[in-house]
Amino acid sequence: MTVQSEKKTDITKTVTHILGYPRIGSQRELKFAQERYWRGEIDQSQLKNVGQELRHRHWNDQLSAGLDYVAVGDFAWYDHVLGTSMLLGHIPSRHQQGFPDLDTLFTIARGKAPTGCACAAADMTKWFNTNYHYIVPEFTAEDSFNVSWQQLFEEVAEAKKAGHNVKPVLLGPVSYLWLGKEKQQGFDRLTLLPRLLTAYQQILTKLTALGVEWVQIDEPALALELPSEWTASFKLAYQVLHGGPKLLLTTYFDDISHQLATISQLNVDGLHIDLSVAPAQLSVVADAIPNHWVLSAGVVNGRNVWRADLAEWLIRLQPLKQQLGRNLWLASSCSLLHSPIDVESETELDSDVRQWLAFAKQKCHEITLLAQALDGEQSAIAACSNYSTSIKARLDSERVNNIQVQQRTAAITPQLAQRVLPYAERAIQQQHALQLPLLPTTTIGSFPQTTAIRSQRSDFKAGRITEADYRKALQTHIQDAVTRQHNLGLDVLVHGEAERNDMVEYFAEQLEGFAVTQYGWVQSYGSRCVKPAIIVSDIYRAKPITVDWSRYAQSLTTKPVKGMLTGPVTILGWTFAREDLSREAIANQIALALRDEVTDLQTAGIKIIQIDEPAIREGLPLKQSQWQAYLDWAVQAFKISAAGAAPQTQIHTHMCYSEFNQIIASVAALDADVITIETSRSDMELLTAFEAFAYPNEIGPGVYDIHSPNIPEVDTITGLINKAAALIPIERLWINPDCGLKTRNWIETEAALANMVTAAHILREKY
Ligand code: GLN
Ligand code: ZN
Repeated sequence: MTVQSEKKTDITKTVTHILGYPRIGSQRELKFAQERYWRGEIDQSQLKNVGQELRHRHWNDQLSAGLDYVAVGDFAWYDHVLGTSMLLGHIPSRHQQGFPDLDTLFTIARGKAPTGCACAAADMTKWFNTNYHYIVPEFTAEDSFNVSWQQLFEEVAEAKKAGHNVKPVLLGPVSYLWLGKEKQQGFDRLTLLPRLLTAYQQILTKLTALGVEWVQIDEPALALELPSEWTASFKLAYQVLHGGPKLLLTTYFDDISHQLATISQLNVDGLHIDLSVAPAQLSVVADAIPNHWVLSAGVVNGRNVWRADLAEWLIRLQPLKQQLGRNLWLASSCSLLHSPIDVESETELDSDVRQWLAFAKQKCHEITLLAQALDGEQSAIAACSNYSTSIKARLDSERVNNIQVQQRTAAITPQLAQRVLPYAERAIQQQHALQLPLLPTTTIGSFPQTTAIRSQRSDFKAGRITEADYRKALQTHIQDAVTRQHNLGLDVLVHGEAERNDMVEYFAEQLEGFAVTQYGWVQSYGSRCVKPAIIVSDIYRAKPITVDWSRYAQSLTTKPVKGMLTGPVTILGWTFAREDLSREAIANQIALALRDEVTDLQTAGIKIIQIDEPAIREGLPLKQSQWQAYLDWAVQAFKISAAGAAPQTQIHTHMCYSEFNQIIASVAALDADVITIETSRSDMELLTAFEAFAYPNEIGPGVYDIHSPNIPEVDTITGLINKAAALIPIERLWINPDCGLKTRNWIETEAALANMVTAAHILREKY
């Protein structure tokens, strides 16, 4: 360990750190422990032991990679924004009972009783433009902040005791306020800042007492285009917080050069910038910040799975090292929370592909290797160039490049995205072909994923049953779903998606160009994790994907069965994408593959095809000035996938959220014949956006919440549809649930759908 000791004594050595480590554990230990605790199978001290073990393991991973600091306070029960609320003693009044502890935290996150009760869970929403969800802080004029929960300080003490060089991680005060929402009309949460700062001062004082030298204070809101009063508030915040431990102000997920005038005036001791998302900001930032500041260069992408090109970074950073000397730090671009943990466990990945990848553990090593090279260690310089060899080879690898795909995407014209006829004319042909009643009833695609389905799938994947047997089993499920829909009297049927584990992973497995991992789990929210596929090469469809299932379902009934596809923007949004191609180009490749599927479905006699795009809205860039450019290519990709359909084929799309105001023009531009959306929880409120825009095509506003096991009453449903009919012409309304039904059981599903169909019948009489 001579390198280590050398590093400590030589003050020109580049300092290395990460902004945070994944907390769930390589075997998802935290997930399973929390779920067992919630089921009452283990007690709180057993749960806490699991947390402690994971923290130590993750600090050791950082230490053994050779990082100079370990991140502490990045661990969180459920969510780190919620952890910040707990630290600040900022607890919604309905959850305030006695001294706040771990159970308070879980109650805020999960609620104790059905929504509507006094202890309803707090809202959850996406963390910037990632697929991680945080618990939204709630603000009122009466709020106070009292540092009471000791978790952070205990962790710092724990890490110190274990001999680590500790750098605590805090979510900064302005971003904390920004991420929350007011619970009172007319109240401005920014007015809470002075009170909040007092609490932050207490936290920093405590950290000083614990012997902390540097604190990482995250202000990701700086990457946004903030209202001016918010930008101005940073000055006050950091005037007040100055004077305790040194502060490293951390920004990530996008460029912050638009805020440099503000940032460079702040009373902090260093700035971290995300150079993997926004490399171009490096020189402007380096020139703008005060000389005595540390500049932490986030070169290793914390939210993707690719190896960093260390040789390239070495060249880019050498002049900066000359300029900044010991004030240059190296880091991950953002917290590694968004990355899987260890590529070494992926034994089933093709070895070619594996050497292109780096997960959290490997990313820590990348940072230290690059630092050593930057510090002039010859062996490290050679290692960096070796390390980059596989990346360079990848770029012209035949595995990655497919000339036909590239030619086909290059030949895309605006006409390719255009249906043959405008909606008004298509609608007449479709009505003729489909003969649907007023207020047609349908569902969103998936039916209950029963234990039988899941165990048959795992039997098949493990080779315990043959493919023929598995297909037979799936046909039985399809037949069952069709029979039940017949009995319920639904108008447009679905096959039920029994063959899909997940709406994106399924297509990733079937299309060429994706790799699927075994253990590449990433936290999505609370104990929920997702395992995004990786786009490794040009994407194409080698053979039809869903056609057999849809054809089979259609053979069982004379009613139309909807074909069911996941759209290009959603497939892209919920996977790890390539970095050597633009997102637009990748979306177009997926769109062309889906386009082939659409035409094949049509040829197989499928008259209605749904292309789900629940991820369009969340793909919006952080800066509003870039929204339109994104929406333009996203809409175009969807349209390319759909536009191979003949006029009489009805194209549906589905989006499950309730904020359409700012994107309604683009939603209309998709030109889907029918869109189904989530509305029941917003009481049809959101249809006003569609009304105001004079949305021209058909809409199925969800009439019941599929997240709840409650069976909706017929009266409730008719009430909602009447509201909808006041906003949208009745002949353009459809009746359906908010989303797919895969998480429900058949008893709930049939009872709810029976009421939905009854409501439709009642209203057909009336209108
Ligand atoms: N067709 C999908 C389903 O029903 C849609 C899911 C979604 O929008 N999230 O499950
Ligand atoms: Zn949905």
